[in-house]
Amino acid sequence: MSDVGDVSGSQSSASEESGVSRFVEIVKQFRFEAAHLLPNVPEGHKCGRLHGHSFRFELHLSGEADPHTGWLVDFGDISRIVKPLVEKHLDHHYLNDVPGLENPTSENIAIWLWGQLKRKLPALSEVVVHETCTSCCKYRG
Ligand SMILES: [Zn+2]
Repeated sequence: MSDVGDVSGSQSSASEESGVSRFVEIVKQFRFEAAHLLPNVPEGHKCGRLHGHSFRFELHLSGEADPHTGWLVDFGDISRIVKPLVEKHLDHHYLNDVPGLENPTSENIAIWLWGQLKRKLPALSEVVVHETCTSCCKYRG
């Protein structure tokens, strides 16, 4: 037992001495289904018609992993903050009716999510909104 402890201790101090950073980025994904139309597109543009997407968004959080817990932020805490927001405003909603999302492009959804979440998740460093499998918008505040 003492050997194991010694090895672990020496690894830890070696890591600190070598200056290995504890800076990490964690990513949590959420999904929602929603309808929208884009009111400011040119006449005849397909996005001007009412349609739906299976939206997906990623929240990136950055900072130092706590040496004791090994965590930056508990993924469960992120879910507890984000899920009520998704249920209240996004999932199975008509996004154009959501205050602040009158023109619900992926860009505006990413900016809106940042505005809703940055105070509650100070380590938030990037929001990525996937509108389709091949199209997404990244926002970093
Ligand atoms: Zn669309």
